[in-house]
This record gives sequence, structure tokens and C-alpha cells, in this order.
Amino acid sequence: TKVPSITLNNGVTMPQLGFGVWQIPDDEAERAVTTALEAGYRSIDTAAAYGNERGTGRAVTGSGIPRDELFVTTKLWNNDHGFDSALRAFDASLDRLGLDHVDLYLIHWPVPSQDAFVDTYRAFEKIHAEGRARAIGVSNFLPRHLDRLVAETSVEPAVNQIELHPQFQQAESRAAHSRYGIATEAWSPLGQGRGLLEVPTVVAVARKHERTPAQVVLRWHLQLGNVAIPKSATPSRIRENLDVFDFTLDEDDMAAFAALDEGRRLGPDPEAFG
Ligand code: NAD
Repeated sequence: TKVPSITLNNGVTMPQLGFGVWQIPDDEAERAVTTALEAGYRSIDTAAAYGNERGTGRAVTGSGIPRDELFVTTKLWNNDHGFDSALRAFDASLDRLGLDHVDLYLIHWPVPSQDAFVDTYRAFEKIHAEGRARAIGVSNFLPRHLDRLVAETSVEPAVNQIELHPQFQQAESRAAHSRYGIATEAWSPLGQGRGLLEVPTVVAVARKHERTPAQVVLRWHLQLGNVAIPKSATPSRIRENLDVFDFTLDEDDMAAFAALDEGRRLGPDPEAFG
């Protein structure tokens, strides 16, 4: 499978579908990421907080796939905010990954109570200028956090990775992202596999296309223009989640999905978290 790419606001290309590794233990990450790379994934989403940068990095460096065909994302954790701490945290992540650069470095959460994300991002700009992160961005930023970041820094964030799935569609954030040319990356794109995949509308659309519920949900993301990073530790599902490039949801399907929005998060509120 060849995964289509989107072009970020700095010209870097990013696969529209990637493999997320949250909750995969470090000693299982190498095998899971290797399975994903063999299936055709070229983008891997990890984070310092996931504790699996080492296993992820071993799979990447051991894959034999040219580095410039891979897209590796990692993230700065909440206790590393601030200019100097961010530089140190980035060095530690690169070291654990065993890489000399990442493709995307994200601030994992804004942690407004620390009031430090602007300083953190200035360190990211330095890392970007040094070529050690080909793109920089944020995660879990609300539109008001983006407004402030864009006003006070010079490199526009390339990506905002946010909770997004049919039951939490994030219209306001997606509108803010289009204003800034920021790519929307969906975390928990399958709603964490809890409930969403049994919703009658999702099951009906899946039957209609002779696909699985997970596949039609991923198709919905792709057709909205989102980057999606589904996670699975099961090889057959890892492959299934990538097999979504040979069918299309029609207008009726997209309208049926639009009606599933409940406006309710599965994860924490970014204003309060951290
Ligand atoms: P997800 O929506 O990808 O759901 C994963 C779960 O869905 C799996 O554990 C499995 O139970 C089920 N599943 C996966 N494929 C399936 C299939 N084909 N059929 C049936 N069930 C299936 O949820 P996630 O793991 O929370 O999110 C994906 C990735 O997003 C994470 O691994 C991580 O990389 C990222 N993430 C980022 C943040 C953040 O704060 N930036 C937060 C959460 C997750």
C-alpha cells in the first residue's frame, strides 16, 4: 500500500495515515512498529511520555527503509516545558530514538497553568532551524492557545494533533487550523475502539461498502483532510487500518457521519490538563 501524503505549511510532506504507539510497552514497540512498517506504514507517532521511543527507534533504524522515506513524530512532555528544558528533552528523545533528526516535534499539551508554551516553542524554533526537526507543531492546543502562539512566535506550527473522531468532530479547531494553514492530525481516530465501532450508522456504512467499521471511520478522516494515526497491537488490524485507499464514502455516508457528533471528549480538557 502506498499512503498518500499531505503537504505541510513549510513544504514538508507527511503521510496522511500513520501508526500510533501509545500504550504499547517499550519491549513490544519494536515488534509492533516493525509489523506496521512491513504493512506499508511510513509514519510513526510516539512521545517521550509513551516510554517507547527506544523500541520505536530500533524498529525504524533496523527496518532497512531509507530514513527519508520515513516520518517519525515525537512529543515533549508536560514537565519539560521551558526553553532550556525543552532543548534537553529533545536531545534525550533523539538519543532514545537513536536518530539524528525527527520529522515532527510536538508540544504534547499546552499546560496553560505553567504559562510556558511560548518559551518551549522558541526552543522548538531553534531545533527546527538546526534541522533536527523537519517540522514543529503542537498537540491539544485550543484555538485560543494557537492565537497566542502565532502572535508571539515566528514559525507557524505545521500540525495540531488533537482528539478527533466521529463523536467529537472539533469543528471550531478545524476552522482555526484552516485559517492558519495548520494540518489537523486526529488522535484516537477510532474513538479508542470503545463504542464508536458498534454505532449502528458506522456499522451500516461499513456493510454498504463491505468494509469494517474501523475502515469506514478512517476513510471519513481522510475525506475530511485529517491526518489519522490509528493504534493497534494486533497484526491483522494494523494491516486492516491501512487498507483504506481503494474506496470512497459518498455524500450520504459523510452526512450520516456528520450527525454522530456528540461534542464530548474521551480524553482530558486541554485547558485544565497537566
Ligand atoms: P484509537 O482511536 O487509535 O483506537 C485504538 C484502539 O482501537 C485499539 O487499542 C483497539 O482496541 C481498537 N482498534 C484498532 N484498530 C481496530 C480495528 N481495525 N478493529 C477494531 N478495533 C480496533 O486510539 P488511541 O490509541 O488512543 O489513539 C491513536 C494514537 O493517537 C495513539 O497511539 C497515539 O499515538 C495518539 N494519541 C495522542 C494523544 C495526544 O495527547 N497527543 C492522546 C492519545 C493518543
